[in-house]
Amino acid sequence: MMPPTIGIIGDGFGAAALVLHLSQHAPEYLDKLIIFGTGTLGSGSAYACATPDYKLNVRSDVMRIWPDNPGHFTAWAEQHLDDGDAHYSAGDFYQRKDFARYVTTCLADVAQTQKISQILERVISARALSDSPDTRWEVETEHGALYECDHLILATGNPQPIWPCSVGLPDDDNRLIQSVWRGDWQTSVSAHDDVNIIGGGLTAMDVIYALFQAGHKGQIKVITPNGMLPPVQTPWTVKPAFKWPICRTARDVVQAARSVLGQDWTQISWQESFETLRIGLNDVYQGLSGIERRRLMRHFGGWWMLARFRCSPPTHEAACALQESGQLQVVSGRALSLDEHKTNIQLTLLDGAALISDKVINCTGPAGDALLSSMMDRGLLHPSPVGSGMSVSASLECHRPDMSPWKSLSAIGSMTGGSLGDIVAASSIARQALLIVQRLA
Ligand SMILES: Cc1cc2nc3c(=O)[nH]c(=O)nc-3n(C[C@H](O)[C@H](O)[C@H](O)COP(=O)(O)OP(=O)(O)OC[C@H]3O[C@@H](n4cnc5c(N)ncnc54)[C@H](O)[C@@H]3O)c2cc1C
Repeated sequence: MMPPTIGIIGDGFGAAALVLHLSQHAPEYLDKLIIFGTGTLGSGSAYACATPDYKLNVRSDVMRIWPDNPGHFTAWAEQHLDDGDAHYSAGDFYQRKDFARYVTTCLADVAQTQKISQILERVISARALSDSPDTRWEVETEHGALYECDHLILATGNPQPIWPCSVGLPDDDNRLIQSVWRGDWQTSVSAHDDVNIIGGGLTAMDVIYALFQAGHKGQIKVITPNGMLPPVQTPWTVKPAFKWPICRTARDVVQAARSVLGQDWTQISWQESFETLRIGLNDVYQGLSGIERRRLMRHFGGWWMLARFRCSPPTHEAACALQESGQLQVVSGRALSLDEHKTNIQLTLLDGAALISDKVINCTGPAGDALLSSMMDRGLLHPSPVGSGMSVSASLECHRPDMSPWKSLSAIGSMTGGSLGDIVAASSIARQALLIVQRLA
């Protein structure tokens, strides 16, 4: 039988994981694979950065392409990297650009990757060619080229952040740094600039670390709704999965989680307990009704995100040093607007406070995805129960508005999190890649 033509929209880590799992389970499918995207296959928003200042947020054995081979990246790193700054008691935290190198090397080891068609363009629309659940798909790129495929996989990942507030300044104002993911913003900040950072998650920690490494002298303020920076990774070890009780409501989930977590999240035992909860959490989440999933996310989501996304030891050390010296302050609040103030920029918060600085750096999370929105508007996809991303089945088939699955349209990555739970980390996405490949092969 002829292998199907598979199209993957997106060329990030998820697409690379699909290629690597296809190479093991159905190598003949690579001959007719088409990947759309403008970057280096495997790098995506997370790892396409040139700076050595951006570290992986998790230790090396947690960065898995093959779920059953946790040591693969660590072994590669030990053999190929000379990164004396990577080693901490909490584990080895390598540079993100080196993880991109690792993925590239894994892809280079697959002989058939030369046969893959990489279309170096963005996709602006995807259209079902019939109403049948196993329809073929037509994809249109930004320059108007059309491609048809038997199976389409949405892997568009993390769209670049946009400002979370109104901006009364020109788009090209170089005092405003809208996205730092590529790691090429440092030359826009002078050593004595006062800097306001909007957002207090892991991206803010990257910026703090880069400023620290550069010997920054100006004041740094981080504006974040909860007034806290992320906790640091501890040297936790893997413990057996928590046996979740039957949870019908958000309250059941929170109660069960509270029963195993202690008070102090800086403790190793706290992170170990948290990690035991995570193993079965997505099954618990998927067992809740849409209303209860929304309730859980509303009351528990913010806290979960803060506890879940721990920072690497070097970024934590830098933030502590800057806080102790008084150079870094964390301000509780939400951004409302950015405006000119004499020769500086005024960031106004929702509570009316005005913070003046030379530069403002946006460290809020990924923006909305225009392609997915257009597919929803045209009735091809159904939103997830919590609103973010789309509704997918447990086997990653996208749902139509009547909730029946498209057999020939799958999705991978954070866009599936609203349906399936906590899907952000590389290892979760790699597991999804394997699941799709096993279904298709
Ligand atoms: C800054 C950052 C740091 C992170 N660090 C870690 C970490 O240390 N450890 C960890 O486990 N996880 C980390 N993550 C989580 C990350 O989500 C996953 O590790 C993984 O990289 C996501 O892969 P992806 O393929 O789903 O998305 P992405 O890597 O975002 O790739 C999607 C790709 O698709 C392209 N694309 C989007 N739309 C289109 C379109 N319409 N047409 C064509 N191409 C398109 C994009 O340009 C992008 O290259 C990080 C995420 C970010 C944003």
